[in-house]
Amino acid sequence: MKLETLSCRRRVALLLDYLDRELPGPERKLLARHRAACRSCASLLTTLERTVRTLRALKRASKPPASARRALAASLRNID
Ligand SMILES: [Zn+2]
Repeated sequence: MKLETLSCRRRVALLLDYLDRELPGPERKLLARHRAACRSCASLLTTLERTVRTLRALKRASKPPASARRALAASLRNID
């Protein structure tokens, strides 16, 4: 898998799977390695992690609409 050749949309989807821990082991390892080498993916992931953490904290406090994560993913796909 060559992350650089993926479209941004596909890459964001992958990063979201990575954050959800839904990525299979080998791809996960690849992405972790890519993150260490690629500044733009690293900063995007950091932002996503912060957002996911905030959403999870909110989830504990109340019940956010099930559409919140989908809306976030959709808006991230519109970047670029
Ligand atoms: Zn990258």
